Amino acid sequence: MKLHIQDTFNKELPADSITSNYVRQVEKACYSLVTPQKTANPKILHVSPEMAENLGISIAETQSELFQNIFTGNEVLPNTQPYAMCYGGHQFGHWAGQLGDGRAINLAEVVHNHQRWAIQLKGAGKTPYSRTADGLAVLRSSIREYLCSEAMFHLGVPTTRALSLALSGDQVLRDILYNGNPAYEKGAIVSRIAPSFLRFGNYQIFASRQDYENLKILVDYTIKHFYAELGNPSKGTYLKFFQEVSNRSLDMVLHWQRVGFVHGVMNTDNMSILGLTIDYGPYGWLEGYDYGWTPNTTDAQNKRYRYGKQPEMVLWNLYQLANAIYPLIEETAGLEAILEDYKTKYESKYLAMMRSKIGLFTQRENDAALIQELEENLHRTETDMTIFFRNLSRFEKDNPDHGFLDIQDAFYDSLDQKSEIIQIWNNWFHQYSKRLSFEKETDSERAIQINLINPKYVLRNYMAQLAIEAADKEDYSVIDELFQLLKNPYAEQPEHEKWFAKRPEWARNKVGCSMLSCSS
Ligand code: AMP
Ligand code: MG
Repeated sequence: MKLHIQDTFNKELPADSITSNYVRQVEKACYSLVTPQKTANPKILHVSPEMAENLGISIAETQSELFQNIFTGNEVLPNTQPYAMCYGGHQFGHWAGQLGDGRAINLAEVVHNHQRWAIQLKGAGKTPYSRTADGLAVLRSSIREYLCSEAMFHLGVPTTRALSLALSGDQVLRDILYNGNPAYEKGAIVSRIAPSFLRFGNYQIFASRQDYENLKILVDYTIKHFYAELGNPSKGTYLKFFQEVSNRSLDMVLHWQRVGFVHGVMNTDNMSILGLTIDYGPYGWLEGYDYGWTPNTTDAQNKRYRYGKQPEMVLWNLYQLANAIYPLIEETAGLEAILEDYKTKYESKYLAMMRSKIGLFTQRENDAALIQELEENLHRTETDMTIFFRNLSRFEKDNPDHGFLDIQDAFYDSLDQKSEIIQIWNNWFHQYSKRLSFEKETDSERAIQINLINPKYVLRNYMAQLAIEAADKEDYSVIDELFQLLKNPYAEQPEHEKWFAKRPEWARNKVGCSMLSCSS
């Protein structure tokens, strides 16, 4: 395995001067050097071949003992210095101070095909940022992170990636619902990959400590390596940088809304500076289309991070980033204009995204009203988001009376023929039909186009749970089945039709499906 290692983060940025591994506040440093913990009985369960190829690792190499040892932290790559990053964050709206990589350890940066990739292990043991926790991860949450990272990539959503999923062979104690019932679970390690794992919180921690010198060093580093097109550091460049982070974050959250992904913990330490979806914890996928839904039981009271609120929460997080970098700019007008611009762009981009989901590729004045009515209708009774939008591709514009039959599989409750809801839908389909008459595509052309926007297969909450339950019994076949399925989320894949189905009743209120906590 010959990786082209080209470290920058731990070469160009200030390091913590202490190298022993104990929990502490780390100041004036971007990271602390730390060695992954050795594990009892490492075993690789799955590898993403696409990601291996991106890194220049052959399939044969992924089957080697060396690969297994490196990607479970049992061996350190020659001439590398693993490290944990220092960051802070706002958790659920409150400043939480220093957080940091409490259970993530960065191994190295690899450059392959002109692309830089940072490699990180999640669950590889304690770091100076572990606070009171153990630095480990369990199998269930690792399966969820592994499958979802790659599924999101194939859906076209900006995301961190995953290379491998492994068992550590150690037992890990977890209280899944934080209700005083801890139990041992299998420990696991995911290797995560991204150009960089920098988060809003990495900048916030310096600003909160009024360490503007290191704040500038880190922002300059970020621009140099990841936003080089913006030019040399200057106040103007910092503003452009903020504009770009804002644009990317907006694009990311619009993709989430498009596919029905609910992140669950959009704290500022979980906001990537590259606009990537990061930290797959208590995330979930909409089944019934519901602005108010969140899978995270830790957020059940306020539902701060519910589906319909996600775009606003991104903006809230951008405000925090603006505050953090303000000391480098010392002028609020430019930052405020960018935050205002987010709101304007959000309105128009959201509308464009929703138009595209229903096959409107031109713009007309009443589109917003038509879409708003559609969303209201989707909320009237529990309506499966994925099935609804996918089956909308069956709609024939000259046959609006058939519209309801096209999408009826999406309803969780059976509706009586005379139901008011059916009348409401019929009315909507008539309006939709009239609107479609202004589009040039034929029914089949429109179907092809919207089927590239509305996925047929997403990682439904119960599907991940089935993979977890099988893996607990040492059957890893469901992980692979879902991994393969989700590589082509927009394709019909008739052999996999069973996964194009509403959530089964057993999964409605089940822990691990609709109910997840931050315990992982
Ligand atoms: P999260 O909610 O996963 O984004 O985590 C918030 C903070 O808690 C981050 O600083 C994590 O590194 C840390 N953390 C979460 N779980 C653990 C764990 N098992 N051991 C150590 N640190 C953890
Ligand atoms: Mg996190």
